[in-house]
Amino acid sequence: MKIARYEFKGRAWYGILDEAGGVLREIVGEPFDGLRETGSTRRLDEVSLLAPVAPGKIVAVGLNYRDHAKEVGMRIPEEPLLFLKAPSAIVPPGGDIVYPRQSKQVDYEAELAVVIGRRAKDVPASDASSYIFGYTCMNDVTARDLQIRDVQFARSKNFDTFAPIGPWIRTDVEPDALSVRCLVNGQVRQSGNTRDMGSPVGRLVEYISANMTLYPGDVIATGTPAGVGPITPGDTVTVEIEGIGTLTNRVVAREPAR
Ligand code: MG
Repeated sequence: MKIARYEFKGRAWYGILDEAGGVLREIVGEPFDGLRETGSTRRLDEVSLLAPVAPGKIVAVGLNYRDHAKEVGMRIPEEPLLFLKAPSAIVPPGGDIVYPRQSKQVDYEAELAVVIGRRAKDVPASDASSYIFGYTCMNDVTARDLQIRDVQFARSKNFDTFAPIGPWIRTDVEPDALSVRCLVNGQVRQSGNTRDMGSPVGRLVEYISANMTLYPGDVIATGTPAGVGPITPGDTVTVEIEGIGTLTNRVVAREPAR
């Protein structure tokens, strides 16, 4: 099942996507407590898709694919390396990534994103799937020059629009062998597979939930495969994950220097 979040008449709604019919079947409230349909349907062409979830926090994982760690001259850490992305950085599918004036190198990072469905504290890896609502695509946009200069990641990962996410949440997919690709202007730049993660999804839920409570709607960005590289204004960047969908955003001009 695919769950989308969308704007209709100035309000945010969740709905069940019926792709064949080109409609969304509206549900009551948030999807995490169960999917109760209101009986209303909306045509896809009368709504705009929002980010498919409004998380309290986005927990991101660095250096979780060996080939990516290698390309940046690092090794996979023994335990997952965590950082946070701010919900204020979220941009919906089709939204613009704004190139910040503070950076001279902004990179794409295609990532599988996990959407948590139940309050999760000290969850063993073997139970992780029952705490996961579903999966979506994320672009962990990064000001690489500032990430290196600042050492910690708060600024480089959190400029407004640096967290494109969507287009919807797929609830019935197994996460451990999915192709993850990034295309810039239609050219493939990353082509990886979640089977090459250092810590697979279950282990990430276990590790993160041992360190902090995860709540319904929280997102885990699970790290990026090899092939990261720059985007510049005018580019169109697409994250494509097998069985989930494609997330496309345009990069727009750097704000004028002040
Ligand atoms: Mg990343």
